[in-house]
This record gives sequence, C-alpha cells and structure tokens, in this order.
Amino acid sequence: MTAPRLELRLDVVGHNTRSLVGRLGERGIQVTAVTKSTLGSPAVAATFLEAGAAGLADSRVSNIRSLRSGGVRAPMTLLRSPMPSEVDDVVALCDVSCNTELVVLALLSAAAVAAGVEHGVLLMVELGDLREGIMPDDVVAVARGVCELPGLTLAGLGTNLACRSGVVPDETNMATLSELAVRVEAATGTAVRTVSGGNSANLGWALGTPRPGRITELRLGEALLLGKDPLERRAVPGLRTDAVTLIGEVIESGTKPSMPWGDRAQTAFGEHVEVADRGAVVQTIVALGRQDTDPSDLEAPEGVEIVASSSDHLVTRTTERLEPGTEMVFRPGYSALLRAMTSPTVAAVLR
Ligand SMILES: *Cc1c(COP(=O)(O)O)cnc(C)c1O
Repeated sequence: MTAPRLELRLDVVGHNTRSLVGRLGERGIQVTAVTKSTLGSPAVAATFLEAGAAGLADSRVSNIRSLRSGGVRAPMTLLRSPMPSEVDDVVALCDVSCNTELVVLALLSAAAVAAGVEHGVLLMVELGDLREGIMPDDVVAVARGVCELPGLTLAGLGTNLACRSGVVPDETNMATLSELAVRVEAATGTAVRTVSGGNSANLGWALGTPRPGRITELRLGEALLLGKDPLERRAVPGLRTDAVTLIGEVIESGTKPSMPWGDRAQTAFGEHVEVADRGAVVQTIVALGRQDTDPSDLEAPEGVEIVASSSDHLVTRTTERLEPGTEMVFRPGYSALLRAMTSPTVAAVLR
C-alpha cells in the first residue's frame, strides 16, 4: 500500500462512541459526534451514528457538504459561527448553527426565509476560555432577538472551553450555563431544549459530576477517535487509543555522527538547533514531513526516537539499520491527525 497513509479503524471508533454514548446517556447527556478531524468522512459519520450518536457536527460548511453528498441525513450542527458569505449554504445544509452575532443571525434569518426553512440557533456563551461566545450578561437579550427573527428557532445554548486558553470545565462554569438556560426560558417563554456543555475536554466533568444540571449534550471529536481527554492528553478510562495510525516509509538508514559539521545558521524553518554530541548513531529517515503532518505530535514506535523534521523528511534514531521500504507506524495526536487528514499527500485508509 502507498505511504504515507493514515489508517483509521472504524471498529475502534465504534467502540469508543458506544462506550461514551452509554455512560453519558445514564446521566441524561447525548453525544453529538464531531466530524471535522476526518474532513467530513461519510463512513466515519455512519460509524458514529450506528454507535448511538444523536447527531453530527462540524466546524466547516465544506465538510458538511461532503457528508451530505455522501448520503448522510442525520441532524447536522455547524460548530463555528457562519461567515456572512455562506449563510445560504448554512441554512440549506445544516439544521442548527452555533452563533454569537446578531448581525449574522439577521442574515441567517433572511436566508432561511428565502429558502422556506426553519433554522435552529445554538447561542454560544463565553465562560472564560475567551474564544467564541456571547458574554453571559448579554445572552438573554440575544436570545430575545433570535425569537423575533423569522425563519429562526432558538435551539439552545452552548459553550466551548479549553480550546484557546485551557480553561477546565467544572461545577462552576457548567452551573452558570445551566442557570442561563433557566433565565433564557423565563425571558423568552421558549423551552431551551439543547444545552451543549462542550467538547472532549468536558468528559472528566461529565462522567464524574453528581450534578449534570441542565446539560443535555457534549460535542465530541477527539475522544471518539483518539480515546484521549484533551486537558492532559491522557487516555479516557474504557476508551481505546489505537484507532488511528500514521504510516511512513524508510528511505535512508545507517550510522552517522550525531554532531553536524561546518558553520551553522538557521534551519529550513528558521530555528537554531542545539545538538548534543552522542557519538555515532543509527540515523533513519522516514519519508514524512511537515507538509504531511505535525511531526512534533507523533508518538514513535518502541525503540525509535524522533529527532528532527523538515518539509519532507522525518529524522529518527533507531537501534539498528532499517532497510529502505520498511514501514514505520506512528500514533498521531490531535494536531498530527488533523494535518494528516487535511494533507493531499497522505492517503486516508478506513478499515
Ligand atoms: C472542534 C470542536 C468540538 C470538538 O472538539 P473535540 O476536542 O475534538 O471533542 C466541539 N465544539 C466546537 C465548537 C469545536 O470547534
């Protein structure tokens, strides 16, 4: 088979999804499965849905279009606030979108009316991580605004933590979200059906809390694919971490000094590298680089150490010479997975 390639085991993704759907379900929390790190793969989406995910979500309209043209009919949420230039596609392809801006909501409303559809709105609330979100004091006013716009239905409230600043989902910020749902219901007279607590970083809270409060769903991507909690990148108990591997091919291997010689300035990526002299080492080059993935986010196999990377070369140290053509199997983290999936130079193989 060709290299480099990203192999994704659908049976393992199915196991992880079933496990979390079951455990969160006992606490009244549904799983909305996030497809963005697979670039909107219809096969992965089908696996999520068969395993019990209540719906799908993605941050990009282009990925959602891939899902829809792949025959996926499930409820679909756009995770990122729509760009004003794409509102027509958003109402055509998505049931719900996450929103924070009344000007964008007005455009969505016009697009929904023109298309003759009702579009659901999940208002995102800022709870401290400082990425997207309406400040808590303004949420009721924006919710009232949504209720006055034709073609739009208030679907619920959501928040996103951890991604930008590493803010941890906890009893305090989740209670604030629950309280806001109650306040919005009182102010608008509409039921807030969905309260979307967050992403994979919420699992520690959601699986442990004695008080899930009003939280009805989590939007999960990384945990379903990689089996890890993004807060500390530790395996989530009960989940498997072997769904995704990135495979590269050895193109040079042999004994070389560990110390470069000649005058030294910047590397290809503007770095000045410090090198420790370790004498002669077995240096093995894999045909994999920064154009294919994020080499700093790869876990190497036993006995292999990643020492450097450039656009197309991954320099490793191995215990012995490896014959060119030997395949080396790496475990990607979220950043390496995202870039490998997005790179046209890496084949994606679903098994
Ligand atoms: C990407 C994203 C998610 C999913 O995050 P994971 O860490 O992969 O679970 C959830 N919500 C929003 C708004 C996102 O952008």
